[in-house]
Amino acid sequence: MALIVPDDDCSFCAYLHGDRPFTVLKQLDKVALLVTREQRGVGHVLAIPTAHRPTLLDLAPDEYAPLMELTQRAAAAIVQAFDVEGVAVWQNNGVPSHQTVPHVHFHVAGTLPGGGTDWGTVPRLSFDETDRIADRLRPHLQTD
Ligand SMILES: [Zn+2]
Repeated sequence: MALIVPDDDCSFCAYLHGDRPFTVLKQLDKVALLVTREQRGVGHVLAIPTAHRPTLLDLAPDEYAPLMELTQRAAAAIVQAFDVEGVAVWQNNGVPSHQTVPHVHFHVAGTLPGGGTDWGTVPRLSFDETDRIADRLRPHLQTD
């Protein structure tokens, strides 16, 4: 049985290629960090491969380590930048798991005051707001 992937144009590829505006916090050869407009936690970012890969099962072997390394660095940056007491990392594959963008991504978010992340409806931030989150995180990401 195959995973059911969202049947949409890939917005993440459009962001990476500059075809649509978005806050790209970091772009490396194989991986990138985006600041999502739907903040479900503190400093919520998305770690993705720069090549289009629909799900975790489609990653190339040479993408595994860079993607996990960037996820770890994002978590560390969130802790340092926002002084949070917890960091959540989650990842969904296929429509039944609530994947909504057909490009594999790891969510990384500091926990909210009082704990946890917000699974309800969250406001859609402006690019000014997501750019400010990127500005907070950027000094805490190691340089390459
Ligand atoms: Zn894509």
